[in-house]
Amino acid sequence: MSASPWTQQWQESFKQVDDLLNYLDLSRKNIVVLGQVDAFSLRVPRAFADRMEKGNPDDPLLKQILPLSQELEAVAGFTKDPLAEEKANPLPGLLHKYHGRVLLTLSGACAVHCRYCFRRHFPYKENNPGTKGWEPIFEYLTNHSEVTEVILSGGDPLSVDDSMLENFIQRLETVSSVKYLRIHTRLPVVIPARITEKLLEIFRATRFRVTMVLHSNHANEWDASLELPMQQLKASGVTLLNQAVLLRGVNDAVHSQLDLSYRLFDYGILPYYLHLLDKVSGAAHFDVSKVDAISLMHGMIDVLPGYLVPKLVYEAPHRGSKIPVDLGLDHA
Ligand SMILES: *Cc1c(COP(=O)(O)O)cnc(C)c1O
Ligand code: SF4
Repeated sequence: MSASPWTQQWQESFKQVDDLLNYLDLSRKNIVVLGQVDAFSLRVPRAFADRMEKGNPDDPLLKQILPLSQELEAVAGFTKDPLAEEKANPLPGLLHKYHGRVLLTLSGACAVHCRYCFRRHFPYKENNPGTKGWEPIFEYLTNHSEVTEVILSGGDPLSVDDSMLENFIQRLETVSSVKYLRIHTRLPVVIPARITEKLLEIFRATRFRVTMVLHSNHANEWDASLELPMQQLKASGVTLLNQAVLLRGVNDAVHSQLDLSYRLFDYGILPYYLHLLDKVSGAAHFDVSKVDAISLMHGMIDVLPGYLVPKLVYEAPHRGSKIPVDLGLDHA
């Protein structure tokens, strides 16, 4: 049985909480969920729901995407724009905060709505360059030859179709100072069929060194459906990394992090970042304190080879990089 095209899988995603609960043999008796709340309502592809355990309200994949009533609780310190990004973009869709690299938003859409996401309140509608907005971006890059890496981020950049992506990359190739192309995406994890033959061709054809930073938080997100796509990406010259967000009740146990690192490596992927949660309103119930995060890291370092230990980082407004958390190990 071959999977249906990714666009169709996208269309057929769960958008109603009760449909998803039914599918998973759960009911509102098990979980206190929100109805349809706002623009950031439930969205989860079936291919991802199929990796959840039926009848388990605490499933670590379910927890990432199910809107809970807790989201409505106001918690001190959790705000709508914790990174003050609304003010940091010189052009719609472009963020230039770090040395030598820019972050571009090709699309505000995502195939899955992650409840902890700091972009849940981001005004993508006003901040989506659209194809018309590309030229000013290319002009900016031409005038800023210190920028050597372009990072496509989101939303999810792979939510645009292959021909649009190809046009974009071919136009970007004419900016000679840009050497590296990075794609931050969760789409292939939730809909493995997104890795199309056409996409692989685009990666094989480009002059850029391509890195794909996947986003996955738990070992259960990796099943046999991802084996071939990951092999194909590697065979097409793409470097594969993963970033995860540290989430209470999802992946904050040492064994969960060990499982994730080993599982990623089985698929040819190295862990890159483990992010402390951005303090975005509605996500406070996922928060893990810095102290707990540090002891989790100690537990990982005790066991894992160095290349399977992600860097624990957080983001703060007006800083020129992610900030590595001091693990305190040199003065232990
Ligand atoms: C995370 C981020 C990057 C990429 O940072 P790396 O440390 O190179 O992964 C670039 N620009 C912005 C604005 C970012 O938030
Ligand atoms: S940007 Fe990433 S983390 Fe946020 S909702 Fe989209 S896929 Fe999830």
